[in-house]
Amino acid sequence: MAEKTQMLSIVTPQRVVYGDEVRFVSARGVDGDLGVLPEHTPLITGLKPGVVRIQKDGKWSSYAVAGGFLEVRDSRVVILANAAESPDLIDVKRAEAAKQRAEERLASKAADIDLMRAKAALMRALARLDAAQSK
Ligand code: ATP
Repeated sequence: MAEKTQMLSIVTPQRVVYGDEVRFVSARGVDGDLGVLPEHTPLITGLKPGVVRIQKDGKWSSYAVAGGFLEVRDSRVVILANAAESPDLIDVKRAEAAKQRAEERLASKAADIDLMRAKAALMRALARLDAAQSK
């Protein structure tokens, strides 16, 4: 018997990045990592910048997601993200430069550093580098 699936959409302000029936989705929720199988109870959670992993037809894929929200309802999963990229669209040099910039900012301890912003930028860069590895 075919495994149950659920519809996953990953949507950014610019476009629909992903839309397909999948078996499993994992993401970094603000309250902890979560994994969603079909018929999961309804939920809404904020997402940290991180990697969303998807299992479809026994194969895994990864997307870098720059924070946002995840909603589960009626066996549909919607990820609303500020930005999301598949591994083939990730510019690794750009992500490495962003990582370095964020690390330098965090190390400088200058009074005018926006710590949360630098940490978020570092998490986005690390998520992109992580997702790019699974190309
Ligand atoms: P940077 O400092 O390099 O701009 P950022 O984390 O501030 O990185 P975001 O604000 O998350 O960038 O994203 C802005 C836009 O640029 C989004 O459309 C996102 O998909 C794209 N983007 C950012 N970094 C990369 C990357 N390394 N590869 C591909 N697209 C990227």
